[in-house]
Amino acid sequence: MPSCTLCGEKAVMSSSYLQAYLCREHFIKYFEKRVKLTINILGLIRPGERVAVAVSGGKDSLTALYLLSKFSKDMEYEVFGLAIDEGIKGYSDLRIKCLKDHARNIGVELHIVSFKEFFGASLDEIVKLLKEKGFEYKPCSVCGVFRRYIMNKFARELKADKLATGHNLDDEIQVFLMNAIRGAIPNIVREGAITEYSTHKKMVPRIKPLYFIPEKESLIYSKLVGLNVFLEAKCPYVIHSMRHPVRRWLNKMEWERPLTKYRIIATKEVIASMLGKVETKRSIGTCEVCGEPSSTAICKACFYKNYLFGK
Ligand SMILES: [Zn+2]
Ligand SMILES: [Zn+2]
Repeated sequence: MPSCTLCGEKAVMSSSYLQAYLCREHFIKYFEKRVKLTINILGLIRPGERVAVAVSGGKDSLTALYLLSKFSKDMEYEVFGLAIDEGIKGYSDLRIKCLKDHARNIGVELHIVSFKEFFGASLDEIVKLLKEKGFEYKPCSVCGVFRRYIMNKFARELKADKLATGHNLDDEIQVFLMNAIRGAIPNIVREGAITEYSTHKKMVPRIKPLYFIPEKESLIYSKLVGLNVFLEAKCPYVIHSMRHPVRRWLNKMEWERPLTKYRIIATKEVIASMLGKVETKRSIGTCEVCGEPSSTAICKACFYKNYLFGK
């Protein structure tokens, strides 16, 4: 690797966007500045707010928690971590330990909610039930619904004004392309660096401080600042989805034509804002069973709960 374009020190990365090589110090500065700008320019967090960060243990959510905590004093907001213990033998326990260490190291309060305590069954037990019923529903679908449900409910109960996630530029583009392939235009309009869920007062707005950060850079950053990343962060129940081919294709395009990712996200932003003027915000109702926000009469979490545990 050649030397830093700015200072001549040994470079740690090259940026096609900047057309420059950066050393450790300059890369860290550049990275942090971009995240801060994203928060400020897009108004993701306002002074006096309380922010919950959904942490999985992977590099992106740890980076989000670390940086939001680092900026919190200057920017005058409060931050805490929120994690879910799904109860996957030999996976969740290690991951939760890793998260606790990380939170302790950076001095951030961490709340953990377990599937077992909340739903009365661990994901291992849920998968067993799904198997008995012939896998009519995929484990990842049920787990995803339960996770989102818990995150929103607990973020709100812990008085969070915003719920931050570690989604990076690559995640966002992959989701955009998958929505485009499916023709899911309302989703394209709704997904963004800040997702203000219309009218329901029980829905905590979600923010993505790493929205403009490429996955590669998030990985380099997490290593350089020594975050305790849980490397086995690949869930054993992951089922191959459309995302993998989209991801491979995207990285190939970026390699052949640098800046492809930024061009796509820019296109997405323009399309979303144009469509946003036409598409009115979806009004969200309330689940008849649990009282949480839901676009259907009974929310998906209650539907799955009844499907799995109903008599
Ligand atoms: Zn430098
Ligand atoms: Zn419900």
